[in-house]
Amino acid sequence: MTTLPAKDDAHLIDVSGRKFHPAWLRYSCPCARCRHPESFQKISDLSTRPELPVAAHVELDTEANELRVDWSEQPAHRSHYPLDWLLLHSAGEQRADDLDHTVRWDARTLRARGVRWHEADACGPDGGPWLDDLRSVGFALLTGLTPHGLERLLTGLAPVFHTEYGRQADVKAVPGAEDLAETESALPAHTDYPYKVTGPLTQFCYYAENRATGGEFFLVDGFKALDDFRRDHPHWFDLLVSTPVEFEQVYTSWRYLYRVRRPVVTLDARGAVKAIHLGHSHAWAWDIEPELCGEFYRAYHGLVRQLGEDRYRWAHRFAGGECAVFRNDRILHGRNAFDPRTGVRHLITAYVPWQQLESRIRFHKERRFYFSPHERK
Ligand SMILES: [Zn+2]
Repeated sequence: MTTLPAKDDAHLIDVSGRKFHPAWLRYSCPCARCRHPESFQKISDLSTRPELPVAAHVELDTEANELRVDWSEQPAHRSHYPLDWLLLHSAGEQRADDLDHTVRWDARTLRARGVRWHEADACGPDGGPWLDDLRSVGFALLTGLTPHGLERLLTGLAPVFHTEYGRQADVKAVPGAEDLAETESALPAHTDYPYKVTGPLTQFCYYAENRATGGEFFLVDGFKALDDFRRDHPHWFDLLVSTPVEFEQVYTSWRYLYRVRRPVVTLDARGAVKAIHLGHSHAWAWDIEPELCGEFYRAYHGLVRQLGEDRYRWAHRFAGGECAVFRNDRILHGRNAFDPRTGVRHLITAYVPWQQLESRIRFHKERRFYFSPHERK
């Protein structure tokens, strides 16, 4: 038996076909008594009132582009809402805004769409086509990038995510490697840092120099591969979502043994794929019920095989000055083996929380609402 929520008989207020509950409006009042006019943080607290707010008078003024509401309360309170602000924040709109940009791809559809290279000098941290690419196909390709240009982009999207290697990492084949990336070996499709608790990261892979033979770099859209995997192997997909496993990394010089228990695939509240965390080189001894092991390894191998298929791969031999920027919890990357005796291969990696990028774009999109006269009243 399910319990239905109590029926809400409040009169909903209609603005251009969008419905607003009076309580929602009262709680969202942008006036200087409800919201601090400089920090824009909420200062009103209506939780002490015995009843939800009641609108006494509602006036829609399309000429002034605002909705005005007088509330039944003492002292008298009047709220002003810009109409475009209301429509942008009506039910479902903010959630839709977060999702609508994703364009899933495989090798064939990406070829048909075409990849774009962006002149690094024309790429700023405040928007532009390279950020549009990052939000749609999950990666952006930059050319003509210098170490100074990389620093400019990182500073513009700071705070940067620091690792043991610092603000950025030099990736070269070195003796005594603490990570397989620091060898000449091939790396299968993976996401970085499955063994660290981080939010989604924007990853920069910048080739300062690339003279070695081999070492082609490739990208895979994990969301597209998972869509196909879910369709073809729904049982395996569910197992990967519902079974957390350990990813780990030992850093002998920094004396850390990282270990994070997490599912390879994470879903959002509506059941859509939200993130993939898969670094096979960090998959170690898994804490799985023995009875479940057989089927889980079949599922895991099925996904690893699928992610390795050419039909999902966009590959390129990056030259010095070229950079791939991508969302690390969606786009997997890897490389073919290279021969370090044939020349220098110097990759620089750096990470910025994905949230910085989203928040910058949102800031520019909505800043007008924070500097309108009403908040200053
Ligand atoms: Zn107010």
